[in-house]
Amino acid sequence: MYADEMVLDRSNASSAKTPAAPATAVTPAMPAAPAMAPPELPVPPVRTIVLDRAPTLVRPVPEREAVRPLSAFAGPERLSLRHVGVSYAGKDAVRSVSLSIHQGEVLALIGPSGCGKTTLLRTLNRLTELTAGASRTGEILLDGEDIHDLVDTTLRARVAMVFQQPNPFPMSIFDNVAFALREQGRKRPARRQLEPLVVDALRRAGLYDEVRDDLDRPALRLSGGQQQRLCIARAIAPRPEVLLMDEPCSALDPISTGVIEELIGELRRDLAVVIVTHNLAQAHRVADKVAFMYLGDLVEYGGVRDVFEDPRAQRTREYVRGAFG
Ligand code: ADP
Ligand code: MG
Repeated sequence: MYADEMVLDRSNASSAKTPAAPATAVTPAMPAAPAMAPPELPVPPVRTIVLDRAPTLVRPVPEREAVRPLSAFAGPERLSLRHVGVSYAGKDAVRSVSLSIHQGEVLALIGPSGCGKTTLLRTLNRLTELTAGASRTGEILLDGEDIHDLVDTTLRARVAMVFQQPNPFPMSIFDNVAFALREQGRKRPARRQLEPLVVDALRRAGLYDEVRDDLDRPALRLSGGQQQRLCIARAIAPRPEVLLMDEPCSALDPISTGVIEELIGELRRDLAVVIVTHNLAQAHRVADKVAFMYLGDLVEYGGVRDVFEDPRAQRTREYVRGAFG
């Protein structure tokens, strides 16, 4: 039973690529030419693509509205940065950044390449200290406690990170999500005990319905967008207070990007999200607060509307209007 049928010529056949449109039959059909007809200009072949359901229209990304109303879930301060500076071999990458990161809010770090966004993000869960030659000044408090007083693995479970390229471990979907949970316990918990937590994390990451039939499937067989949601599930399984995301959509197609943006909107109910993005439209859609960095300095920090519509600094105005970067 086919609900819909479309006839496309070759010039627009590629526009039939929609996720809800698996082409179940693609039949190239040459129109029958008269047996003895003289050679004429070639007739473009007509393709019939039969769809088993009506295609779902996806709104173009720039037209989607903000993911959720401003600061609807604003909660307590989680991270507090006081005059944070980072240098590599004595050269400043981040200079005296002070700001506060709240549960229930998405903070977008924006700015041109090389201005210190990734460095600042990696400093929030002490990944920077793994880089030889890097040093840090200032203070970062997580729920009032200096992050240097915490065991690094504990800190990274509480301030979890998702990277630009999806990086599932070469193991099953289940084991990926269970990874941090297993690290936490003193003795290895049984699969039965972990299962509800794994399912819950997959659900919150918006992936469960797509993988529920076989959680033992290798994670590397998932699509790019699914892999990134799996990495989000792995990061949120231990219930972190803060989720750091470094350009999490830059390796993804627009549809997966939309799914992840919606997800960020949901996730901020329970935690603080800090996202680095090159994409100003994305910052506008997902963020409550925006921090604009330029050459290591925090030039502007404020509510998304203020920064985009009425920035205080001339540099911010130029950047958000696309004058550079
Ligand atoms: P962004 O994420 O905004 O593009 P980065 O934080 O990656 O910026 O980089 C900020 C500055 O620090 C750049 O000048 C970059 O060259 C430098 N930098 C980043 N990582 C390292 C590193 N591991 N060693 C030395 N310099 C680095
Ligand atoms: Mg970066």
